[in-house]
Amino acid sequence: MTTVTGSCFCGEVRYEIDLPTRFCGHCHCSMCRRPHGAAFVTWTAVPPEQFRITAGEAALQTFESSSHGRRQFCRRCGSQMFCFHTRDDDAPPDLIDVTLASLHGPIDRQPEAHFYFDSRADWSKISDDLPKLGGATGIEPLS
Ligand SMILES: [Zn+2]
Ligand SMILES: [Zn+2]
Repeated sequence: MTTVTGSCFCGEVRYEIDLPTRFCGHCHCSMCRRPHGAAFVTWTAVPPEQFRITAGEAALQTFESSSHGRRQFCRRCGSQMFCFHTRDDDAPPDLIDVTLASLHGPIDRQPEAHFYFDSRADWSKISDDLPKLGGATGIEPLS
């Protein structure tokens, strides 16, 4: 089993994930762009059992970014790190989204698609050949 470690910018919050990941892609939605201060955010994801906080859990701040989503960042340095979806039944999330940029090593895949591409910042010019997805769910093919 391959484990990849990650941390926030200041190093207070440390974590690790076990490969394999479930996906990797660039998200252009406004809820990603604003808190990250970026044109888009590159996420990967693992099931909860492949994810561990190894240090600094007390510095991890949770922000409820919607009625069904929570984001976590380091309250000391502001690094945005994790996102997970919550459901009505309070069940644990199926996947924990992890910012690829906070991981210290390579994972088992390259970015595979653009999500919420029709919500992208109009100053963001994308010239790669990856699938451009969007629509209401962010993952529908765009004609
Ligand atoms: Zn930090
Ligand atoms: Zn997003």
